[in-house]
Amino acid sequence: MPRKLESGRLVVATHNKGKLVEINDLIAPYGLEAVSAGSLGLPEPEETGLTFEANAELKARAAAEASGLPALADDSGLAVVALGGDPGIYSARWAGPDKDFGRAMRNVEELLQQKGAVTPDARRAYFVAALCLCWPDGHQETFRGEVHGMLVWPPRGERGFGYDPMFLPDGETRTFGEMTAEEKHGRGPGRDGLSHRARAFSQFARACLDA
Ligand code: IMP
Repeated sequence: MPRKLESGRLVVATHNKGKLVEINDLIAPYGLEAVSAGSLGLPEPEETGLTFEANAELKARAAAEASGLPALADDSGLAVVALGGDPGIYSARWAGPDKDFGRAMRNVEELLQQKGAVTPDARRAYFVAALCLCWPDGHQETFRGEVHGMLVWPPRGERGFGYDPMFLPDGETRTFGEMTAEEKHGRGPGRDGLSHRARAFSQFARACLDA
């Protein structure tokens, strides 16, 4: 049985305001309040893990130990099958220090072209999100969400972020870059949401929040 979160404060191990708001909206109905690692002055550990789960776990563990509160952390990225899972855990780094995702997407496309990956089957990819909740006593629960699809070129749509404009989820006619946030992440009764992050969150909510 997964351990449940008691009401109180939860540290969200992110310095990203968007993620904090998204998590607060999810947990507020359960008497929980999200505080960011940044606002507590907690340092950001180096992401030295070799899997999404390992990186989420090391971030959650560091925040729980430093704050004495339960802590939630996530790690995510895009895995391209023909590229052996790259950029994977290095998805953010492929955009360089100036966070240029146009460049990161071109880089992915060039590597696919070099492999002659022109058919939809050769262009399979999936987004992964790992979510870890760690308590100060070291107990942890980890969840993984995935969304599978294919990569299109040229990129389509101005919405979203990162690799969204080149990712076409299975069963959809529009890329993530052409969808609203609600269409990409929206959860509802009997609906988990399309995105990898929404799917990981639904698992977390069911396991630890009695959602
Ligand atoms: P992190 O989880 O904050 O380390 O971010 C990982 C990187 O993966 C992001 O900078 C994006 O490049 C990519 N990524 C993760 N999730 C998404 C998504 O939903 N859409 C597009 N790119 C994503």
